[in-house]
Amino acid sequence: MDLTQRQEHIIEIVKENGPITGENIAERLSLTRATLRPDLAILTMAGYLDARPRVGYFYTGKTGSELLTEKLKKFKVQDFQSIPVVVHENVSVYDAICTMFLEDVGTLFVVNDHAKLVGVLSRKDLLRASIGNQDLREIPVHIIMTRMPNVTICYKEDLLLEAGQMLIDKQIDALPVVKNDEDGYEVIGRLTKTNLTKALVELGRDERI
Ligand code: ADP
Repeated sequence: MDLTQRQEHIIEIVKENGPITGENIAERLSLTRATLRPDLAILTMAGYLDARPRVGYFYTGKTGSELLTEKLKKFKVQDFQSIPVVVHENVSVYDAICTMFLEDVGTLFVVNDHAKLVGVLSRKDLLRASIGNQDLREIPVHIIMTRMPNVTICYKEDLLLEAGQMLIDKQIDALPVVKNDEDGYEVIGRLTKTNLTKALVELGRDERI
């Protein structure tokens, strides 16, 4: 977050004099308390300052990068997940390829008659199945998919960093975000490398501070 000159000045005052009341800061800047209120709110929300009732503002001592790291560590999968694209295990490789193009995704999740997760299909899985002379309309995707229990999953409450670590460790592009049901996993989202890139860019732009 880029701080304004006034905000930098407020931080300096609080650093040297804290705990200090809002009234007092305003006096030192020859401003009214009301003029200062938005700046104090921003600095408190961003974590630079903390406020205690009847004591005043004090400096938290955290640098911009420490605050960013704190924020990153709080991101959850649900804050960045996308809509999942699923296909039935009996659809053909040909239809799965069409779905992948039409839906503009790189990973499809495969489900059974009960709409429960049974596998994953990546671009390369479909390319591999396309090598040779077989009729792609005749091969059901369950033959070529990566199947349960080998599918790596995540939950919407999981930390984004932990999900990202799984993508790296398993060398995969996407995780299904699932919900536990008695008869399996329901797919409720999709977490991809693109989602993680978006989180990183958003953090850099600091839109959430
Ligand atoms: P691509 O194969 O197009 O490079 P991935 O790196 O995501 O895409 O997939 C690599 C392999 O890992 C594929 O065989 C795919 O089926 C499998 N895979 C993809 N996502 C998962 C997942 N969440 N859990 C387990 N295996 C996966």
